[in-house]
Formats: sequence, structure tokens, C-alpha cells
Amino acid sequence: MEASISDFCVEMRNIHKFYGTVHALKGVDLQVRRGEVCVAIGPSGSGKSTLLRCINQLEGISTGRVFVKGELQGFVERKGRFHPLSPGRVAAQRRSTGMVFQRFNLFPHMTALENVMEGPLHVKGWARARAKAKAIELLKRVGLDGLGSRYPAHLSGGQQQRVAIARALAMEPEVMLFDEPTSALDPELVGEVLDVIKDLARSGITMVVVTHEIGFAREVGNHLVFMDQGQIVEEGHPKTLLANPKNPRTIAFLSKVL
Ligand code: ADP
Ligand code: MG
Repeated sequence: MEASISDFCVEMRNIHKFYGTVHALKGVDLQVRRGEVCVAIGPSGSGKSTLLRCINQLEGISTGRVFVKGELQGFVERKGRFHPLSPGRVAAQRRSTGMVFQRFNLFPHMTALENVMEGPLHVKGWARARAKAKAIELLKRVGLDGLGSRYPAHLSGGQQQRVAIARALAMEPEVMLFDEPTSALDPELVGEVLDVIKDLARSGITMVVVTHEIGFAREVGNHLVFMDQGQIVEEGHPKTLLANPKNPRTIAFLSKVL
């Protein structure tokens, strides 16, 4: 039997992804260890969002395999053949990953507290009191104590993104995926969101963070992945890779952003 139970929280094996004729991921192999902060950087269009979306099954992969905590995602293997899982099983698997987007995607007609309670209440089936207690605790954790009754329109972008992080955490995922979580923010609000993500990193949650914040990658990351044209071109420890990139494409990219 093929080894799939491992230390890896996320494992991608030879992933290809096509959108019609666009070959967005060209044989990606990625291993993210438990508790690791994996940071993905690279030019626009290199496949970073697609990588995250394939991990949490927002997109179906074309070929290859994705494992989360050793469990094959989206398929079941029987007698050497792969069969797609039912939508219900896929939905259950997707709960092991929490996704935070560039645009916060909060429900505008719900307060911050209700946004965070929504998943536990309606997906996990928790009692209202339990979901509320959890949401209050999480809002406190992201520095929004006392702002639970505000609607998204009455929160700053940085505050909305922190609600979005709390909402993802409320589902108690195994791994958190961040897709350029600070790119839509005014510069003065970037720090407060990065601080929350740093705090989560220190608490040991496994995460994959797509970002242009190279300082964040260096300080918080322990695995840096550089993507270009649908491939992982180079990876390693951020401090090593940023100080001494080897691949010409990495060197060219870093010379523009550093
Ligand atoms: P990044 O996040 O690094 O900017 P993406 O993963 O968004 O890159 O995109 C990778 C490639 O796939 C790009 O060429 C992009 O135009 C294409 N792409 C992304 N999403 C879609 C889609 N839904 N339909 C068609 N092409 C897409
Ligand atoms: Mg993207």
C-alpha cells in the first residue's frame, strides 16, 4: 500500500490543473508538515490561488492527488481505481481546511458575531449558546473584543479581514489557507492582519499563506515556495532562499519585490 499517513498535513502529488486550455498547474508536488507555515510567492498568474483552491477542493484537479492529514481528497480508491466522492463527503473533507480570501467575503446582512457563528451553527450543528461562546472567544483572539454586534459595513477592511479569519477558525480546521489576505487592504491596516496571522502561526496551526509580504515570509514562514508559470520553481527555508536564491526566475522575481 502506498504511504499516505504521514507527518504531512497537506501533500500534493504531481498536480495538474487545466482551465479549458489554460494549464494553470504543471505537475506540482508540495509537502506541508504539521505546524508548518508554508508561504507561497510568485508573479501574478503563476498559479498560487489555484494551488490553494485545489487543496480545499474549490477547484477539481485535472490529474494527481491531494492528501490532507493523509486522507485522499475528492476520491476514494477501490481496487486500484479512483472514484469521485459524493458531494456530501467532499463537503465534509472541505471542512478540514479554512480559507481566507483577499476580499473578505463576509455576509453583509449579519453582524460580526453572526458571521463567525454561522458555520458552527449550521454546518456543525452546534447549539446557539455554544456557537456564540466560541464566536466571542474567537473575536477576542483576533483583537475584536466588543465589536461582535457591528455589521461588516461598519468595520474597517482590517477588522473585516480579522472577522473572516475568526470565521474560518470557528470551523476548527486542520489547516488554514490564506490567499493574499492583506492585498485588498489600505497599507496602514496590513500590520494588524499580519499580526493576527503571526499569532496563529505561533499557536502551531498549519498554514499555507499566499502573500507578497516578503518580510512576513522571512519572519514567520518556515517553508517558502516560489511559483512561476504553474510550477514550484524553488523552495526551502525562507531565510536561506531569500538570502541565496538559486533559480534565475526566483532571482528575477525577488530583485523586483525586495
Ligand atoms: P495567481 O494566484 O498566482 O495570480 P491563478 O491561480 O489565479 O494565479 O491563475 C493561474 C492561471 O490560471 C492564470 O493564467 C489564470 O489566468 C488562469 N485561471 C485562473 N482561474 C481561472 C478560471 N476560473 N478560468 C480560466 N482560467 C483561470
Ligand atoms: Mg491569486
